[in-house]
Amino acid sequence: MGDRNTDAGRRCLVADRNDPTPCEGELMAVTVITGDGKEITGCVHHSARQLASLQGSRLHPMAALMPWVVDVYCRAAALTPFPWEVGL
Ligand SMILES: [Zn+2]
Repeated sequence: MGDRNTDAGRRCLVADRNDPTPCEGELMAVTVITGDGKEITGCVHHSARQLASLQGSRLHPMAALMPWVVDVYCRAAALTPFPWEVGL
């Protein structure tokens, strides 16, 4: 069915290695641009968490075309930076 050893346990590239939470939705939902200009594409859940954590980070302008961009911003606004460090 296409998921043997490929999708099982796989996480998006935005997920911090110290963040134990699983991805939500598509693994390539939106692209986060970090404060130093690096572009990383990931799921809605981890993109919101990094958006709340990384100084100067923002979503790629093309994210505005995606229906879940408001969800990412709303999740980020409700989070403290590095939420995985406090068990969130
Ligand atoms: Zn993810």
